[in-house]
Amino acid sequence: MRKYFLAAILLIGNTVMAQRTLIHCGQLIDVKNATQLPAMTIVVEGNKIVEVQKGYTAATAGSTVIDLKKLTVMPGLIDMHVHLESETGPASYLNGFTFNPADYAFQSVMFAEKTLMSGFTAVRDLGGTNVNIALRNAINKGWVVGPRVYTAGKSLASTGGHADPTNNYRKDLMGDPGPREGVVNSVEDAAKAVRQRYKDGADLIKITATGGVLSMAKDGSGAQFSIEEIKAIVQTANDYGFKVAAHAHGAEGMKRAVLGGVHSIEHGSYMSEEVMDLMKEKGTYLVPTIVAGKSTADSAKKPGYYPDIVKAKALVIGNFIQGTFAKAYKKGVKIAFGTDAGVYAHGKNWMEFQYMTEVGMPILEAIKCATVNAADLLGDDSIGSIEKGKMADIIAVEGNPQQDVSSMSRVQFVMKGGKVFKQ
Ligand SMILES: [Zn+2]
Repeated sequence: MRKYFLAAILLIGNTVMAQRTLIHCGQLIDVKNATQLPAMTIVVEGNKIVEVQKGYTAATAGSTVIDLKKLTVMPGLIDMHVHLESETGPASYLNGFTFNPADYAFQSVMFAEKTLMSGFTAVRDLGGTNVNIALRNAINKGWVVGPRVYTAGKSLASTGGHADPTNNYRKDLMGDPGPREGVVNSVEDAAKAVRQRYKDGADLIKITATGGVLSMAKDGSGAQFSIEEIKAIVQTANDYGFKVAAHAHGAEGMKRAVLGGVHSIEHGSYMSEEVMDLMKEKGTYLVPTIVAGKSTADSAKKPGYYPDIVKAKALVIGNFIQGTFAKAYKKGVKIAFGTDAGVYAHGKNWMEFQYMTEVGMPILEAIKCATVNAADLLGDDSIGSIEKGKMADIIAVEGNPQQDVSSMSRVQFVMKGGKVFKQ
């Protein structure tokens, strides 16, 4: 592909100019102003947007036109909570014993491609086996087709907690994982575990502040870190420029996480009014993952899908997320779009838009959560909107999302960093 790219660089006079691409948009969603503009042209040079013009600019020598006049164009979507290494299924728990890292790697290639083709040009991977770090590098090198990946590497937990990698194993296999494996039981462990993630090559830190649904453990919502441990994680993370995402279902663990300084609460199932107020005060984002809650509750009804210990939690907790999201949104808590893809089938991330709008968020606001807000939470101002100087991450859908939210499932065009991946 590199050869083709070089061929596209034209020599004009004595200066080398990158190929200009003019994208003619039927409708262009201006997410920042929550409006939709008819008949617009986006000018792309190399990997960046260089201009956004009214009307349809005609092609000149050295420029090509991409005709999206029948489509609604918007910035590439960003999912702030995915797990690209795996996907739910009755065999998921057994895979931990039968899969080698290479198996996870090949599997993740498939999920990364699906994610990009469904319009998500960037994701935050909130925990896996560290294969996600190699996946990010492979995508950046152009070896693999996928979205921009910002990864937490391996999630941090306390012993027996939601992301303890040996929960419920036979005693001789259980061992005593520590900071290196992502298990933290003191302030000292906290610093070491964060530094290990830095050494591994992660982009951010994920903690499991409370129990969770899919782990082989009884409790799905109790607090699992002390506030001192959380503070130590956040302070050490700050040294490396890492943000901290906190998985949390129960209110006490959430409160400790917010007071400890994390940047986002993931899921937020049993969020109290007190926690919502604290999040507003501290500017903490909620990343709801409604689709994951609903789909785990559904899967739990299928015989044999989950072990009994998981099934009992899935039937209850997942149903709370949508209602909590609606309350938090109305109360003015900052929201960033996230779905927990992998907990349900990769590529169906768009369904979160349906669940967000179902309880009162306008679609343009939901798209803002998946673009401008997500970029803000990532701390990356090069993506998230279609403006001069931003990376050319651009998608287009069939139909008008303002009239029919399911048009978000009909992605017809995907450009990432100026390169077309779907047309
Ligand atoms: Zn998750």
